[in-house]
Amino acid sequence: MGKRIVIALGGNALGKNAAEQLALVKKTASVVAEQIALGHQVVLTHGNGPQVGMIQLGLSAAAQSGAIAADMPFPECGAMSQGYIGYHLQQSIAAALKARQIERTVATLVTQTLVDRSDPAFLSPTKPVGAFYDEATARRLAQERKITVAEDAGRGWRQVVPSPRPVGIIELPAIRTLLDAGHVVIAVGGGGVPVVKTDDGLQGVDAVIDKDLGGALLADLLDADELVILTAVERAALYYGQPNQQWLDRITVQEALAYAEQGHFAKGSMLPKIYAAAQFAASAPGRRALITSLERAADGIAGKTGTRIEG
Ligand code: ADP
Ligand code: MG
Repeated sequence: MGKRIVIALGGNALGKNAAEQLALVKKTASVVAEQIALGHQVVLTHGNGPQVGMIQLGLSAAAQSGAIAADMPFPECGAMSQGYIGYHLQQSIAAALKARQIERTVATLVTQTLVDRSDPAFLSPTKPVGAFYDEATARRLAQERKITVAEDAGRGWRQVVPSPRPVGIIELPAIRTLLDAGHVVIAVGGGGVPVVKTDDGLQGVDAVIDKDLGGALLADLLDADELVILTAVERAALYYGQPNQQWLDRITVQEALAYAEQGHFAKGSMLPKIYAAAQFAASAPGRRALITSLERAADGIAGKTGTRIEG
């Protein structure tokens, strides 16, 4: 019996420019095609930090030089990044399937993720995005555009945005319909374009949603059997990078949360993956989450490697 698998792809699988990305996504495509050949349903989601940054920077440089009339707002840049990344994934996954004599449509859905205006994250924006400015320019832009700016690790001043918790996926019914009809779906890219509910309908907000948490919500709402988080390491570890480092093989949700509490996983990198994995594994009986590398993905899904988190 085929499983429904949500795969969340890390930033290192996408490269720094279009040529690099197109070459790199072939690795992901072969992983996805192999799972589909085994009879599984696959939904793919991905990070977009460097890509959305590149789009926003390019357009803000164009605006500063007068080539275009205004800056592109951050949510719009996120939507563009979903299309840019999704397009490459569509092309490569379809090619990898065709090589295995499988004819499937691969479709990307521009996805809006609902966040809560009263999420405490909105009170303390911390994620730096976009161009670097000197302090005076940054403070002027903050006034003009009603954005928050902060100094970023000695490198200059940047806009900072909050990272609220995802609470809903607006296009969920469409994702489910495509999946049920046998199509391969790419959705919730970059965690989704963050939107809030207003009296006039949905409205994009300057924020970033953690793609691992977005993936966990997607997997939960789609009733997936497995959430697979692909990153740069084959397993999560205790005492990571220290002489007494200990790779984790199979852990329970309780163990995962206890290790997180003890500070074993770095904030902003492994910690959100552990939280996302634990959240999904705890959400219903029989659900499993896996953290492994893109290179070891097939073996990981087959149960031979990676860090597996079970309820
Ligand atoms: P992605 O782009 O896939 O989200 P991140 O860089 O955000 O990747 O997170 C993965 C990184 O987390 C790994 O490359 C590793 O350096 C780091 N990391 C931090 N703590 C741990 C840990 N305890 N075990 C394994 N990796 C860890
Ligand atoms: Mg990350």
